[in-house]
Amino acid sequence: MPLILQERVSLKSLNTFGVDGRAAWFARAHSVEDLACLRADARLRDLPWLVLGGGSNVLPVGDIEAVVVQVAIPGVADAGRDGAARLVRVGAGEPWAALVERLVADGRPGLENLALIPGLAGAAPIQNIGAYGLELAERLHAVTVWHAADAGLRELPVHDCGFGYRDSVFKRDRSGARIVVGLTLRLPDPWQAVTGYAELERELAARGCVQPGPSDIFDTVCTLRRRKLPDPARLGNAGSFFKNPVVDRARHAELIERFPSMVSYPLAGGRYKLGAAWMIEACGLRGYTRGRAAVFEGQALVLVNRGGASGADILALARDVQERVRHKFGVTLEPEVCIVGAQHPAQALLAD
Ligand SMILES: Cc1cc2nc3c(=O)[nH]c(=O)nc-3n(C[C@H](O)[C@H](O)[C@H](O)COP(=O)(O)OP(=O)(O)OC[C@H]3O[C@@H](n4cnc5c(N)ncnc54)[C@H](O)[C@@H]3O)c2cc1C
Repeated sequence: MPLILQERVSLKSLNTFGVDGRAAWFARAHSVEDLACLRADARLRDLPWLVLGGGSNVLPVGDIEAVVVQVAIPGVADAGRDGAARLVRVGAGEPWAALVERLVADGRPGLENLALIPGLAGAAPIQNIGAYGLELAERLHAVTVWHAADAGLRELPVHDCGFGYRDSVFKRDRSGARIVVGLTLRLPDPWQAVTGYAELERELAARGCVQPGPSDIFDTVCTLRRRKLPDPARLGNAGSFFKNPVVDRARHAELIERFPSMVSYPLAGGRYKLGAAWMIEACGLRGYTRGRAAVFEGQALVLVNRGGASGADILALARDVQERVRHKFGVTLEPEVCIVGAQHPAQALLAD
């Protein structure tokens, strides 16, 4: 596929919020050679890079004075075994949801709890995607990274990726200098169901599924997700806008004393994850609308574009929500979505 470099390109169809904004330059890279070509292009020499997958976890605010590069490298191939796991190599440009469906369907299960998450495979390690009791890090062997500085490829083992809750070394480095070009998945063989997540467990029980197989979990997760999350094709959104805040034991005890019905989950090491959706709802913000931007009625963690909102409108709503939660609970909600703007990559538009 030819490498096409375009100037002043609208990002509207390239982010699931559906907000407008122009990229100074845009290109779709189908190979590492394409990345090297772009790096060598004299017209782009002094500009920062913004790497994009499916745009389902970004909020563009205004125009982006950067080279926006969508990594569209394809490929799915078996890569042998490592102990009790089969390894599968995947190109960064593979659409994640289709990949999970295909692997379950052709007898290579392990990712079914992460079904129907939008975006491309290359972005999955950026925030260590997670859902229904499973995080990507638990199914990853290594990440293949292309380094802009020397156009070299490096294989980063999973334990060097700094994975945490919606976090990784890649998410912390927004310079565009390290680009994920592929993943090596580690799928346990023999397979074991991951069913500890309460909502999933309840739904499986309601279906009479006592010993669920991979397809049962895949179907159930898809049903649950379709029930509670808005389809970005109909209502612009990027899934959960904020992360669930994590606090220590003392802070948790203080909050529970003041707000006994607060939703929280114990974590290892005596820390607690607080239910951000519960806090937003407790501020009376479910369905809250500000111009063309709103807190989704069905799930308060999701901010939506009701049609015609700009990135700045969504950001203003996010700041408003953040401020009200901070005022009521003394807790700062940190965005899960990557906010990208004119100042890219040095932006901290919604940081603490
Ligand atoms: C309806 C909906 C539901 C969602 N549910 C979940 C969920 O359950 N769990 C969850 O974890 N997330 C969820 N998300 C968020 C999102 O789908 C994931 O974070 C996904 O992995 C983002 O993929 P993307 O290709 O769209 O990335 P983008 O939005 O394009 O990019 C996200 C970030 O990754 C960087 N990036 C992208 N590709 C690369 C690359 N190849 N190399 C280096 N950096 C890169 C970008 O610069 C950006 O900072 C949801 C989103 C929506 C819209």
